[in-house]
Amino acid sequence: MLNFSVEKTDSRARLGRLELPHGTVRTPCFMPVGTQGTVKTLTPAEIAEAGAEIIVCNTYHLYLRPGHKRIQAAGGLSKFMGWNQPILTDSGGFQVYSLAAMTRVSDEGAEFQSHVDGSRHLFTPELVVEIQEALGADIAMCLDECPPYPVSRPVAEAGVARTTLWADRCSAARQPGTNLFGIVQGATFTDLREQSAKSLVALDLPGYAIGGLCLGEPSEVTYDMVGRVTALLPADRPRYLMGAGYPEDIIAATKLGVDMFDCVLPTRNGRTGTAFTSRGRVVIRNAIHADDSAPLDDACDCYACRTFSRAYLRHLFMVGEALGPKLLTLHNVRFFQRLMLGIRTAIEQGGFESWSSEFLRRYQPARGQSPGPESDTGDCPQTNGS
Ligand SMILES: [Zn+2]
Repeated sequence: MLNFSVEKTDSRARLGRLELPHGTVRTPCFMPVGTQGTVKTLTPAEIAEAGAEIIVCNTYHLYLRPGHKRIQAAGGLSKFMGWNQPILTDSGGFQVYSLAAMTRVSDEGAEFQSHVDGSRHLFTPELVVEIQEALGADIAMCLDECPPYPVSRPVAEAGVARTTLWADRCSAARQPGTNLFGIVQGATFTDLREQSAKSLVALDLPGYAIGGLCLGEPSEVTYDMVGRVTALLPADRPRYLMGAGYPEDIIAATKLGVDMFDCVLPTRNGRTGTAFTSRGRVVIRNAIHADDSAPLDDACDCYACRTFSRAYLRHLFMVGEALGPKLLTLHNVRFFQRLMLGIRTAIEQGGFESWSSEFLRRYQPARGQSPGPESDTGDCPQTNGS
C-alpha cells in the first residue's frame, strides 16, 4: 500500500516521502520513462545510479508485447526487467488516442487497432486495472479520455464525464492494495478542470494526476490549470503532472504543489543528440563541439561527463555509434535527477524561490523543440501517460 507524507513545505512547494511496495521515493521526483519495460539504452543499475527511485512503464505497449499475462507468469514486471524499485504504469489511454489506429471510444471503453499488427482490442476501465495489477505496478492509473490540444468545449466536457465514469469503474474493479491514481482532465477550461478534480476527489483515491496538459498550450495556461487543480486536491495525497519535462515547467509546477513528474524528453533527446545541461541545451552534433575537450556539463557528476569530452561524444554521433545515444541518455537522466535533488534540497532549506531564480538564470529554457512523436519506438510525447 501507499503511504505519503509531506515533510516540509516552502510556500506551496512540498517535500515528501512516498512509500510504495518496492521502495521509498523522495518527492518532488522525476520518473524516467521505460515504455516497453526498459528505459531505452540504460540498464536498471544505471537508472538507479543516476538517482531515479521510480520509473514509468506503459500498459498499452506491454499488453501488446509481450502480454501482461506472460509478465505476470514471469513474476511481475519488476522481476522481469530486473528493476527492483517502484514502477508506475500508465493506463494506456494516451497511446490508444495517440498511437493506435481507428480508435472508437464509447462509455464501455476504447476500442483500437494495434499499431503492431493491426489486431483489434478493447480497453475497458476494468481491463486496464487488471493489466496493471498483473504487471505488479506500485502505482496504477485510471483509464481516462485525453483529447488532443486544442479541443472544443463539448469534446472536453464529454471527456471529463467519461473520465469520471471510468475512474469510478476502475476504483470498483481494483483489488485491495492497488494504488490507483485518478487523472484530472478538462483541457484548458478552468471550470471543467475544477469539476473533474472535485469528482475524482469524491472517489477518495490514493493519489491524483493532472493529464491533458503540456500538449502545446501556452505555459501560462498550463500553470493556471495546474494551480487551480492542486488547490482542490487533498493535501495528504501525492500529485502527479503527466508529461511535463522541461526544467522550467517542472520548477513552476513544483511551486504549485506538484510532487511527481515524468516525460520522455531526457531519454528521447539523449538518443537524438540533445543534452540538457546546467547552462541550457546542447546539440552535440554541432560543429562547434568538434574540438571541444570540455565535458558535456562541467557541473555534472555522471559517468559521461566525468569521462568523455564533447568532441568524443560528437564523434560518436557523427559516425552513428550506439555508445553516443547511450551516454547522452545517461547524462540526461542524471541531469533531471540532479534537478530534482536541487529542488528538494532548496525546499528543505526554505529557499526554493531563490534557488529556482538562480537555476533559471543560468539555464537557457529549452523551449522551441517539441518532444514530438517517434513512431519507430512507440514513445509518446506526454508520458505515455494518461
Ligand atoms: Zn553528465
